[in-house]
Amino acid sequence: MKTELLKVDEKCDEILKRAAELIKGGSLVGFPTETVYGLGTNAFDADACLNIFKAKGRPADNPLIVHISRPEDAEKISYTNELYYKLAKRFMPGALTVIMPKRDIIPGSVTAGLDTVAVRCPINKIAHKLIELSGVPIAAPSANRSGKPSPTSAKHVFDDMDGIIPMILDGGDCEVGVESTVIKIDESSIILLRPGAITFEMLKEVCDNVSISSAVTEELKEGEKPLSPGMKYKHYAPKAELYLIDDNYVDFVSFVNERSKTENCAVMCYDEEAERITSDKLLPVGEKNDVKKQTKRLFMLLRKADDMKVMTIYAHLPEKGGESLAMYNRMIRACAHRVIGGTNGKI
Ligand code: AMP
Ligand code: MG
Repeated sequence: MKTELLKVDEKCDEILKRAAELIKGGSLVGFPTETVYGLGTNAFDADACLNIFKAKGRPADNPLIVHISRPEDAEKISYTNELYYKLAKRFMPGALTVIMPKRDIIPGSVTAGLDTVAVRCPINKIAHKLIELSGVPIAAPSANRSGKPSPTSAKHVFDDMDGIIPMILDGGDCEVGVESTVIKIDESSIILLRPGAITFEMLKEVCDNVSISSAVTEELKEGEKPLSPGMKYKHYAPKAELYLIDDNYVDFVSFVNERSKTENCAVMCYDEEAERITSDKLLPVGEKNDVKKQTKRLFMLLRKADDMKVMTIYAHLPEKGGESLAMYNRMIRACAHRVIGGTNGKI
């Protein structure tokens, strides 16, 4: 199959209409959102949704997120409640995915047989228009091959999906750079299943009763079943072995300088450290205090490290809270909990 890679903005009506027709007809299209690129198709088409799993090599028990263009469209696919609308008023459109009981119209192939469905209303203008023009909700996971870092540019999608899907829309680099915050709600409480740009602290401002699933920060125990099936897979992983350094206990610069003498390794450092690091495979991630920039660049840098063909990558262990929790969660899973230094550490 030939894959078209097309540069677009929200005013490119002709291209977006063609993409929308493909989606409505059950083909797969790569498209930008504010979080990461999605691989979308018609959420009402059971077979089309099965093809998403095939294209990604995604385990069959890991459900997809359904994208809508207006918060109230959640009514058509799920059983909403007052808390949903409170959250929608504050955070939608935006990087929040809400899990609620599903209606029968959503096929089991979208939800991996679960009786709940994950609903998101993106703010990216191209994504928004694509959903509107399709006239159907769009089921879309991240547009990477399963297990690889999520794509934050159209090139990443092309690298993974060339020859597998008919069209990729190139809307430039994603603003946020990590996937949406995923929460499960009932009438009065929220469980945070995956941290993203909408933080625990922001959710607390809307609802008193917010808890964080242990799978966000801890390793699953043998046989333990997470609330969000995606959390059980080693995810976001580059080919090289990633190690995180807890710099409360280990001096980052001297540690990586020592290792670079003998190892084929890349170093993901803060911008202000770059000059003091002797490795020639430097991946500056952003200033120490600029967590948003670091988050935005994370997956791109993990892919870049693989292009450098290194055996190991060293990076800072991010803070375990606030807007840093999303970075912490992605990195701790990408490194399979290999932390150097500190009480958290295994090594
Ligand atoms: P992705 O589309 O790659 O961002 O992955 C979607 C994430 O949402 C995965 O971690 C899924 O396990 C999770 N998810 C989607 N639907 C549900 C659901 N009904 N219940 C729990 N988790 C879900
Ligand atoms: Mg994904």
